[in-house]
Amino acid sequence: MNILVINCGSSSLKFQLIDSDTEQCIAKGICERIGIDGSMITYAPSGGEKEKTTTPMSDHKEAIRLVLEALTNDKTGVVKHLDEIGAVGHRVVHGAETFADSVIISDEVLKTVEECNELAPLHNPANLIGINACKALMPDTPMVGVFDTAFHQTMPEEAYMYGLPYEYYDKYRIRRYGFHGTSHSYVSRRAADLLGKKYEDLKTIVCHLGNGASVSAVKNGECVDTSMGLTPLEGLIMGTRCGDIDPAIIEFIAHKENKNIDEIMNVLNKQSGMLGLSNYLSSDFRDLEAGYNAGDENAIRSMKTFCYRVVKYIGAYAAAMNGVDVICFTAGIGENGPLVRHLICNYLGYLGVKLDDEANQKRGEEIIISTPDSITSVISIPTNEELMIARETYELVR
Ligand code: ADP
Repeated sequence: MNILVINCGSSSLKFQLIDSDTEQCIAKGICERIGIDGSMITYAPSGGEKEKTTTPMSDHKEAIRLVLEALTNDKTGVVKHLDEIGAVGHRVVHGAETFADSVIISDEVLKTVEECNELAPLHNPANLIGINACKALMPDTPMVGVFDTAFHQTMPEEAYMYGLPYEYYDKYRIRRYGFHGTSHSYVSRRAADLLGKKYEDLKTIVCHLGNGASVSAVKNGECVDTSMGLTPLEGLIMGTRCGDIDPAIIEFIAHKENKNIDEIMNVLNKQSGMLGLSNYLSSDFRDLEAGYNAGDENAIRSMKTFCYRVVKYIGAYAAAMNGVDVICFTAGIGENGPLVRHLICNYLGYLGVKLDDEANQKRGEEIIISTPDSITSVISIPTNEELMIARETYELVR
């Protein structure tokens, strides 16, 4: 069955058409600047030329119409008719406590997802727009919602509760949810396959290091802790998000800089992290890696602080699981960052980690980067959230 996977942001829409039998991507692309001047669609059929077309896209419905047109037209299309697309899998960021698994999207489900909007105001509304736009154009095609939070719903209470008045949990469901769940699930399973071990027998730590970054602890096939919280702001230092800070800093900045809460949240989400810490050098690790190698003090400070935070989470999760068998690196930086992996693994001698320096130079490959005698294995695994969404979708609609 051909499954269309849609990951819809506020002004962008990534898509992939995946054959569920072969698990191969048949075509993929992205619509950018939706609703903004200069919108464009990039489309690439598997094995074919990548095409970039600048064309007006007033809204997401228009973007999806263009995607479906690209997939079916005579020149670049990969299917003849829309009915060759058996189902659509949508990435949905927040499923709160309601969705511990993927679900077929009904009107009832849509209403419940909408209720989760206030927990992810930057992401969920865009996901819903994508679903509604798709429904309007493919009313008879089954749709599935795959939630970033679902994989983490197995966390025990002691991992997801905050030290806040219990009534806030009771009234508002304020707790740790965690994100990137589809990636953590895919990578932890893949690590077991690569090691030839049973998923249920392993203690795995997954470091998903991209613009957004999070760590998770997966014990015997279930997530037991993760670094993002109620929102994706908690945990690691990210591209532009601050990660863990003393909450009292918010009041301090408010007074010193005369900022209101919205302005401060904007600083914490958009001007902090590696961008802020590097004194606005860059949020992009390619620039930071180059700066580090050239001896730039802003790059060195931010790299060291980023890696140290990851190291602390690995230590915490090794403690939480009473050990760790395998540490995985994934996402843009995890898959492509020999320097980051090296700086992190340098701390992990106490876990018996020995890095294979040559293997660690590889970028974007599925590769074991620890030596054969390393007590804890370390693996770099390109994540594949789209494939995981296609798998989940297929399981529900077949
Ligand atoms: P997201 O999906 O959260 O936007 P990605 O997983 O695409 O983020 O990761 C983006 C990050 O990965 C950027 O900081 C980018 O610099 C880094 N990255 C991508 N390719 C490389 C590379 N070849 N070397 C080092 N860093 C890389």
